[in-house]
Amino acid sequence: MSAPQAAAPTPQAAKDASQRRQKAMLADYFERLAAARENGTKVVYTFVPGNLVELIDALDMLPVLPEINALQSAMRKRSAGYIAEAEKAGHAEDVCSYVKCDIGMLKSGNTGPTGTKLPEPDLLLLSYTGCFTFMKWFELLRQEYHCPVVMLHVPYQAGGAVSGEMQRYVVDQLRQKVVPALEAVAGRRLDDGALRERLERSRQAEDDLVAVWDSARNRPSPIDAYFGGVYYIGPIFSAFRGGDGAVAYYRELRREVEDRVAHGEGPTTPDGSGAPERHRLVVEGPPNWTHFNDFWRMFSREGAVMVSSTYTRVGGLYDGGFRHDAERPLDSLAEYCLGCYTNLSLPARVDLLERDIRKYAADGFLINSVKSCNSFSAGQLLMLRELEQRTGVPGGFIESDLVDPRYFGKANIENRVQSYLQMLEARGKERTAA
Ligand code: SF4
Repeated sequence: MSAPQAAAPTPQAAKDASQRRQKAMLADYFERLAAARENGTKVVYTFVPGNLVELIDALDMLPVLPEINALQSAMRKRSAGYIAEAEKAGHAEDVCSYVKCDIGMLKSGNTGPTGTKLPEPDLLLLSYTGCFTFMKWFELLRQEYHCPVVMLHVPYQAGGAVSGEMQRYVVDQLRQKVVPALEAVAGRRLDDGALRERLERSRQAEDDLVAVWDSARNRPSPIDAYFGGVYYIGPIFSAFRGGDGAVAYYRELRREVEDRVAHGEGPTTPDGSGAPERHRLVVEGPPNWTHFNDFWRMFSREGAVMVSSTYTRVGGLYDGGFRHDAERPLDSLAEYCLGCYTNLSLPARVDLLERDIRKYAADGFLINSVKSCNSFSAGQLLMLRELEQRTGVPGGFIESDLVDPRYFGKANIENRVQSYLQMLEARGKERTAA
């Protein structure tokens, strides 16, 4: 699925040191990518869920995450043109819009979000975690780039749990296929110590990120765990996990959030701060990227704060207890891939949402059903009914898209959001009166 983002245009509020740090990290990353060919640095394209950036970095190669390029293009209003380009080349309207945006970008010169050209891949590393589109996407890129592909087949968690057999199957592939393929491109052997160092740094950053998620239990919540959350997951879901930069970023972010808790402050928003907290929502589904700030304001101006979201777990379910582990390098990488949100069954996703509705004392939950992404959208109406039954908390349902602006009907979505929030308001009053 999809990705978060870091390099998204900074919300007004993001004058925090952590945001400035993240921007600098991204600028440096895209500069290194632009100079990769000249410097002889090898480049590995890979997806956000199930990414193995610690392995890539330990071999001094650079990752490129195509979903992030797609969402960045949308935030910069370029996705419509790229999607049109891909559709002209024969890609159907109902294909995942991330794919079409990426293919259109490639056909238009492969200029990255900061205006520099992205290097071609030396390897396509396909960690297959639940979404069939991942496979088709890299088939298309292979036709364009003619570079080798290595696939890590991650068994789907159909039964809602990871068995020892599944774990061994993934570890064996890592050892026998993925690491050798990466070493062949890097031209050298993997240094076990270098990988362990990166995994330890990942763990540190993950501990701090979990503290940030947990802070939403406060009233008011100091964070918006969906709109604000996509900035928070930027470094850890993308190229930076395992690096010193990510450790420093999450340490700083945690301090800033703790400071907001100490001062009783709510989250930052595109307008600086939002209306005082009136509703606490849990969100299922990715955000829309083409009208990101408009979408956010529909909630922040009404005092509706997102206290948790499944989207910000696509690149790792750390608040479920998982950590990368330097003592068990390949095992923990396998566990990470197996546990990605895209690899979970529908019942497991419902359990997760129920957990968070209770944990964060939400008075509502919202499903943003995106047209492009079957991986997320299939079954969401069933999830809605099941969650309402289990928790007694009413759900809202809206439809949009990831990066195709044709499917963001602003007035329609705004009407639905307002009706939903009014209903929550009325319900809250009734409960207070009762
Ligand atoms: S279908 Fe969904 S999960 Fe799959 S690549 Fe597209 S956005 Fe990602």
